[in-house]
Amino acid sequence: MVERSPHRPPRCTGLVGPTTLDLLALPPRLVLRDLRAVRVVAPGGAVVEFRAPDVRGYVLDRRGLDRWLLERAAEAGAEVWSPATAVGLSGRRLHTTGGAVEFGVLVAADGAASAVRRWVGLPSPGELLVGVQAEVEAPGAEDRVEVHLGSRVAPGGFAWVVPAGEGVVRVGLLTVAGREAFPLLDRFVASRFAGRRVLRREGGLIPIGPPATTSAGRALVVGDAAGQVKPLSGGGLLFGAIAARIAGEVAAGGADALPAYEARWRAELGEEIAFGLQGRRAFFLADRELDRIVLALDRPAVHRLVAAAGDIDRPSRLVRALLSHPSAWGALFPVVRAVGGWVARERGGGLSTAPPRR
Ligand SMILES: Cc1cc2nc3c(=O)[nH]c(=O)nc-3n(C[C@H](O)[C@H](O)[C@H](O)COP(=O)(O)OP(=O)(O)OC[C@H]3O[C@@H](n4cnc5c(N)ncnc54)[C@H](O)[C@@H]3O)c2cc1C
Repeated sequence: MVERSPHRPPRCTGLVGPTTLDLLALPPRLVLRDLRAVRVVAPGGAVVEFRAPDVRGYVLDRRGLDRWLLERAAEAGAEVWSPATAVGLSGRRLHTTGGAVEFGVLVAADGAASAVRRWVGLPSPGELLVGVQAEVEAPGAEDRVEVHLGSRVAPGGFAWVVPAGEGVVRVGLLTVAGREAFPLLDRFVASRFAGRRVLRREGGLIPIGPPATTSAGRALVVGDAAGQVKPLSGGGLLFGAIAARIAGEVAAGGADALPAYEARWRAELGEEIAFGLQGRRAFFLADRELDRIVLALDRPAVHRLVAAAGDIDRPSRLVRALLSHPSAWGALFPVVRAVGGWVARERGGGLSTAPPRR
């Protein structure tokens, strides 16, 4: 295992659903917060809060998670070269600043801007968005995430406030606005947390839409390098963890087994990614339309459905539940229009797990 920056703080909020906790068998000490509610703030300021009777999300000690994963890899027998940077490939040799290493299969988990992906000639993810985050010294509501919508806050995305450690909140945004991301974040922090101390800021790329192919020869890409990210939220921890397990199993079978990788991870994640790519269109609706949607969502039938079926890892389940309740349709017309292609395919007998066309 080759890692170039073992001490760089992760650029991540660390928000996951219960499935991630179970899948990785995370120790409870890595959980900073349990979350039960989400508050959605419309561009015009209207607010609707959905609350579940049980825990639906967790905020992780993200630095602790990386350390724990590294320890587990080493315990399982991985030889860790760190800090060492992969600098090139020739045949079956990976050249690093710590020397060259011969490989049977190369698993590239080197992030959204993956160099290995380029070296082996694999295509890039559909889109690269920017995610930026600040840790702010401020009291946060114990068990609630805030989601802020609107073209002035986060064009083509959304902003969030998530409680982290004691007296600290993680404030971030995901946007198509590229270089404007940090100024947008600064503005958002100044308006939402005026006078509060910003402890640190960081930003990274978020791949939206996996590349058409994710393995070539003796190499495969996984995690952000393969765009295995929820397109609606930009969250990549769960999908990366699911695909990493598949990648490990396939790689253990040697280079001849690699072609199975593509079909196996798409069978697990393809449907939710296809849904998310359609649903993302809602982030480009006009502010006035978003205002109307947020207001319309504030009705008992929708609150009941969110409490019963809300799942941050599989938002398609909630939309499916909403679509099966005529009482919620009026509220959802603009959203349904935005995810129209997905709905039509649902009616036509299931979703394709083929690579999403961009
Ligand atoms: C602001 C922000 C907030 C986020 N919040 C969440 C969230 O709340 N929940 C969630 O699920 N997801 C979130 N994400 C996404 C999540 O962080 C990523 O999906 C996840 O970290 C991807 O993991 P990865 O291992 O594939 O890639 P990375 O985390 O990017 O790791 C790649 C690793 O490869 C190393 N590396 C790269 N190139 C080389 C090289 N040449 N040689 C050696 N080492 C190399 C890097 O140092 C790095 O350690 C967020 C992302 C951002 C930007």
